[in-house]
Amino acid sequence: MCAIVGIYGNQDASKLASAALFAMQHRGHEATGISSGHSNDEDSKKIFTVKGRGFVRDVFDEEAFKILKGDMAIGHNRYSTAGDDSIFDAQPIQAKYKLGEISIVHNGNLINKDEVRNRLISEGSIFQTGMDTENLIHLIAKSSKDRLRDRIVKSVKKLKGAYNFIIQSRSKLFVLRDPHGIRPLSIGKLKSGGWIIASETCCFDLVDATFVRDVKPGEMLIFSDETPEPESIMLDDTQEFRPCAFEYIYFARPDSIIDGKSVYATREAMGRALAKKDQDMLDADMVIPVPDSGVPSALGYSKQSGIPFELGIIRNHYVGRTFIEPTQAMRNMKVKMKLSPMKSLIEGKKLVVIDDSIVRGTTSKRIVKMLKDAGAKEVHFRVASPEIKFPCYYGIDTPTKEELINAVKTKDEVCKYIEADTLEYLSIDDLRDAIGRDRNYSLVSFDGDYFVK
Ligand code: AMP
Repeated sequence: MCAIVGIYGNQDASKLASAALFAMQHRGHEATGISSGHSNDEDSKKIFTVKGRGFVRDVFDEEAFKILKGDMAIGHNRYSTAGDDSIFDAQPIQAKYKLGEISIVHNGNLINKDEVRNRLISEGSIFQTGMDTENLIHLIAKSSKDRLRDRIVKSVKKLKGAYNFIIQSRSKLFVLRDPHGIRPLSIGKLKSGGWIIASETCCFDLVDATFVRDVKPGEMLIFSDETPEPESIMLDDTQEFRPCAFEYIYFARPDSIIDGKSVYATREAMGRALAKKDQDMLDADMVIPVPDSGVPSALGYSKQSGIPFELGIIRNHYVGRTFIEPTQAMRNMKVKMKLSPMKSLIEGKKLVVIDDSIVRGTTSKRIVKMLKDAGAKEVHFRVASPEIKFPCYYGIDTPTKEELINAVKTKDEVCKYIEADTLEYLSIDDLRDAIGRDRNYSLVSFDGDYFVK
């Protein structure tokens, strides 16, 4: 997951970056960081960085903003898919090299990271972090090109996988999206002046920015005071655009527009499709969402079926997402801390329960038990995504294949395991219809089509 942001040409750059990161906190809260600098002040061509573990609100205070001076900034919320969760693996990563100083933020996952890293180490590089992102710093530093832009172009050609990078030099921002455009990245114009580049458009409202366009797959943009508009250079337009379907299912906030599609509308369509499948089969009393990511799909299910929508599960908002703690023991406890049943509402009732996905089966099992303990008569579990059978290596934190319950058990076995009365998933076809058939979305987790070669 992870969120990245870049601000260019605004005196409040670091404050705006932290506001944007705050709006994108759902994409990761293990660590956060911001680098900033002056784009056009010859005397203070320095990069300033503040980073720390935990939430945006805890890391950036007045002291931090005193350090983070300047009219450009880049920022990151961490959710580890590569490296570990120590502070050394927080971003941005800042480094000095022959041409000066740079700082980098990255969302995605590089599939050839070990190969590139091992080669760099055998050539003498000393790595400071466990992150795949550091590969790019070393490649840029070792390049023999005279200009940073040429070093970047040459270096990214050696990387494979899902990547959105924002690179800050002492006077410019470089923005890159991988040739398949797997993870989202949008550009906005700040009403108070300058530009914002961010993983999700949901942060544009908070910083008062208007959406301009999405970064194109394979595109590099350069923000500098040499040109009023960012310079666009197409590095690779030979690959098929394959944005990640999981952004629509789970990652993104419902109020984001990802590559032209409303996340809320796609989730509602997923719920409608589940209801159509159940038509005339269920006489349930109510549809209840697993909050928060199941809410739009449950609304879609309710509208399509006519079964009333109720909030049968209440979420404690002060606990993070269930996945965010990396160990199984912590995850079990977090589900309990996070969700509680509305006993008076569900007692003696037949429920349709909608969640966005089943990964290991921990959450769904716990939820069914919780609802049955609270007196539910029947629990019909509906999942607003197809069966996850394959690990994704393109920037999603997925467990090994053996840990994916749908990879090792049949649907009936999973239903039995989670102790639901019935269990249904969205079909891959219905998922394609819900997001739209205009693009060949990445469905790796569902079809195992590892298309990055
Ligand atoms: P599990 O308990 O392992 O079956 O996980 C399913 C729950 O985790 C669902 O309720 C989802 O909302 C959430 N989820 C699904 N995919 C991910 C992911 N890649 N990272 C974090 N959370 C996820």
